[in-house]
Amino acid sequence: MEINSSVFYADYTVYKSFKKKEGRFYVTMVHKITKKHRIMAYARYKMSSHLGRELRKDEIVDHKNEIKLDDDISNLQILTHSENIKKNKDHRGICARLVTIECSFCLKEIVRQAKRVRRSEKIGSKNYFCDKQCESKFRTGINPVTLLPVSKPE
Ligand SMILES: [Zn+2]
Repeated sequence: MEINSSVFYADYTVYKSFKKKEGRFYVTMVHKITKKHRIMAYARYKMSSHLGRELRKDEIVDHKNEIKLDDDISNLQILTHSENIKKNKDHRGICARLVTIECSFCLKEIVRQAKRVRRSEKIGSKNYFCDKQCESKFRTGINPVTLLPVSKPE
């Protein structure tokens, strides 16, 4: 699946893929001119794009909630090797049941903990968003196809 390259990786065509063995997403980047390939974890790609710089080898992109499929930028943080080892020790054994739902704005599939979804349904929330941008576009009433504002219902 081809995804939009971030500004930082504008020279690349980026494809997102799922690696079953590792149970997480990866990106394959193909340089538009040299056609050279680079492969990195999607979380790493996202953090690097977010910071607008390459990550060092000793910078590990960690999923705060331990859900390796939840590559939302708010769920990602940079840890050093030793911090990462410590965290893995602390969290070993925790396994959350996951559900796949659709972003209410862009309809992209997102993975969430089932209990969190149940909890927000209980309080009447029916909208889920893959990121803050989708959420704010949804709230300000932007049409996902035309990206133009649609008139809000009075
Ligand atoms: Zn979305």
